Amino acid sequence: MGARNPRLWGRFTRPRTGWEARPSVGTVRGLYGSAWRQLRARVLEEQPECHWSFPGCTGKSTQADHVLAIAHGGQPYDRSNVVGTCRSCHRKRTQSQGGRRRRQP
Ligand SMILES: [Zn+2]
Repeated sequence: MGARNPRLWGRFTRPRTGWEARPSVGTVRGLYGSAWRQLRARVLEEQPECHWSFPGCTGKSTQADHVLAIAHGGQPYDRSNVVGTCRSCHRKRTQSQGGRRRRQP
């Protein structure tokens, strides 16, 4: 009575969900070529200060960020869709786009 079966515990498997289950990621990665590097350099030159200024912001642009993510229909090489951002804010933006609904700036 009430005998536990220890084999059940060992058979527990997690379903693979998350980034590798998202089909859009692979196509987005393919877009980052020399055209992107040129645009990014131009953005950092024109916008040396971080666009977002989230809490923890360093204030200095070291990366370029799409305002409207490509996965959401944004234009990858459109200067008006790219802003300079610091590493901290870029990470916050990436995290918010990965999970929840994007917030309009
Ligand atoms: Zn910042």
